[in-house]
Amino acid sequence: MIPRNPTGNQTKTYITDPVELLERLNLTSQQMFFSAEAAQQFRFKAPIAYVDKIQAGMPDDPLLLQIFPVRQELESVPGYIKDPLAEADSLFQPGLLQKYDGRALLLVTPGCAINCRYCFRRHYPYDDKGHMWGQIQNNIQLIKQDNSISEVILSGGDPLSLSDTRLGELIAMLESIPHLKRLRIHSRFPVVAPQRINDDFLDILADSRFQIVMVLHINHPREIAADSQASIEKLRKTEIILLNQSVLLKGINDNAETLKQLSEILIENHIIPYYLHMLDHVQGSAHFEVSESDAVQIHQQLRAILPGYMLPHLVREVAGEKSKLPVYAC
Ligand SMILES: *Cc1c(COP(=O)(O)O)cnc(C)c1O
Ligand code: SF4
Repeated sequence: MIPRNPTGNQTKTYITDPVELLERLNLTSQQMFFSAEAAQQFRFKAPIAYVDKIQAGMPDDPLLLQIFPVRQELESVPGYIKDPLAEADSLFQPGLLQKYDGRALLLVTPGCAINCRYCFRRHYPYDDKGHMWGQIQNNIQLIKQDNSISEVILSGGDPLSLSDTRLGELIAMLESIPHLKRLRIHSRFPVVAPQRINDDFLDILADSRFQIVMVLHINHPREIAADSQASIEKLRKTEIILLNQSVLLKGINDNAETLKQLSEILIENHIIPYYLHMLDHVQGSAHFEVSESDAVQIHQQLRAILPGYMLPHLVREVAGEKSKLPVYAC
């Protein structure tokens, strides 16, 4: 028998109380510089599958640091602002971002599997932009009217927070637009909550007329374990293209050795390392910042020890530019 909680659901799949996490990991709030206020500003949420990969008793575990609300988030640091990418300006229509040629980015849900403390959308005004499901029909109409768009990128939040029914409906609507060729899905689910990759979702991928590119967001080699590997293998069997993007994060992956291990485990799983992003300067994330000179040095070290196809592009987003920009020319 599967144990059930009082709401009748199966055993819970998420932890939403940071104190519960501390108990589970045998850590104290003092050790972790816990801040309830930070958790209130951007709520704490982590799937059990991810929590299971955190080492107990280790306050500086690289997986734990990505999710735990700390006091440093409340410090106000010059240059760190609520909307660092000026997305509010690119939203020519709520829920639709068109910054780059040929690609339209659809925000389909505010929900994520996991709340990452460095997230550039931690202050995103999802509510007052009111751009979610209700707006999607409208945005699909706009995409339909613009022949220059060949790729739609599903983002959010995390698009896999939507039910398979919703996702299926959405993809079917997009498939009816002749000038669209590719669908890109950005998601952290396959790794942080691998049980989400169920048969219905796999059928949607396998049955689509689109060439599908899925971009996973994996920052540290330890995020990939047997459960995530099984889900990635199922994705691969649908013949989609798998890419990864990471954020360069202080104390988490800011050294060539960790990034090398990450590229190696990605390639073992048929995932091409695509981007290594500089941190977006969102308010509350300054303690994750890796300086540009350190970033360049780490990337150059990585270049010297990896085959070219295993080296992610070191890029940053600059508001108003026509693409993401390389951090240095080589
Ligand atoms: C990052 C991003 C894209 C995709 O850029 P690629 O370089 O093609 O990966 C598209 N639209 C928006 C708004 C983006 O932020
Ligand atoms: S999964 Fe992505 S969008 Fe969601 S909180 Fe993490 S970084 Fe932000």
